[in-house]
Amino acid sequence: MGLDPVSLKIALGIVASTLCLLFFGSFRRTRSAYSGWWCLALVFLLSGNMAYLLTGTSQQIWAGPLGNALLVAGAFSVWAGSRSLRLLPTPRWQLLTGPAATAVAASLENPATNAWSGGLVYLAMMSLGMGLATVELWRLKPSVSHAHRSLALAAGVLASFFLCRGIAYVLEGPDGPDFGTYLSSATTSVVTIVLLVTVSFSMTALSNEQLINGLNERATRDGLTGLLNRTAFMELATQEISRLHSAGSISTLILADLDHFKALNDSHGHAAGDTAIQAFAAACQASVRHTDLVGRYGGEEFTILLPGADLESAEIIANEISRRLASAEPPDGVTFPTVSYGIAPSTLANAEVAPMIAAADKALYQAKSLGRNRAVCATS
Ligand code: GH3
Ligand code: MG
Ligand code: MG
Repeated sequence: MGLDPVSLKIALGIVASTLCLLFFGSFRRTRSAYSGWWCLALVFLLSGNMAYLLTGTSQQIWAGPLGNALLVAGAFSVWAGSRSLRLLPTPRWQLLTGPAATAVAASLENPATNAWSGGLVYLAMMSLGMGLATVELWRLKPSVSHAHRSLALAAGVLASFFLCRGIAYVLEGPDGPDFGTYLSSATTSVVTIVLLVTVSFSMTALSNEQLINGLNERATRDGLTGLLNRTAFMELATQEISRLHSAGSISTLILADLDHFKALNDSHGHAAGDTAIQAFAAACQASVRHTDLVGRYGGEEFTILLPGADLESAEIIANEISRRLASAEPPDGVTFPTVSYGIAPSTLANAEVAPMIAAADKALYQAKSLGRNRAVCATS
């Protein structure tokens, strides 16, 4: 093909070191495990290629096996990084087995004179590492990122390229016509440069998506309980109620308020009060379905929207929440408060969230006046 392999390795080195510096900056800022693994993979790629520059010199005896092992370590770092996106850890022995096997295989086939010593194990391990990364990236949920498909594709192309090289190596050996031309080291450098740029571009998109997801989470969630905050609850409830209304279905809203909460704060301090709020939030989440909406309306008041539920099932859920809170383990000397509930169905309030909350608030007031620790349903 006429491409000079040494010049290409140097070009690859320059591209990889520039990307490594850029991503190291991003890793220092975000501390994201994926950026860290990607930086490490680039370092392995760089150092492996530097070791290969000694091919043909008296240092080839150790530089060849080392270069192979470092590149395989790079491929397995990409795999570990892909797993970190799915929050899965990678045991160290699994990471080290591939590079170690590659180094041993390369040392056994006269590395001083044979530039392709251990070539088959090296090509197989590269294909395996990138293949595993492809599977991990492909399995990523679209809710985590949309950029993962292009990452998976890039990893898949590299895995297939190494597989083809491995097959050509077995069929015709390192001096064969295919292995020496379009499956050569020079082609590998070109393919790697293109994929490095693709992956880095996708990684930037991925980091931005993670940043936006994080900001979105902070903007919609209450910091103490992790429940929806008031604004997010109102927005989502409005959408859900109107969707159900158009479909001819009902929904029911519960407004909950912890009883004599001020007394708990006054006698045991705010921290104990906070624990009670968190325990109540946990009791709510354990009692509702994942399609129900639970929000912290403010202070010790909470809103729950139950799509498709009638008053009777809402009352059962309210009682279930109270039962769970009563059986939760409070801090020493503290008793968790009881809870009062006001319940309002969408049919009462023209299927809009604000009048539903107003109706539930009235019912809640009645529950308080009737002695607290109970649920009262709004009546027309
Ligand atoms: P009632 O049974 O009538 O509801 O009595 P209450 O004491 O619960 O009612 P009140 O509304 O007077 O008290 C609410 C208290 O909740 C007052 C406020 O200091 C406290 N509070 C609001 N937000 C928080 C919070 O985030 N943490 C803690 N610890 N207390 C909070
Ligand atoms: Mg209150
Ligand atoms: Mg209260």
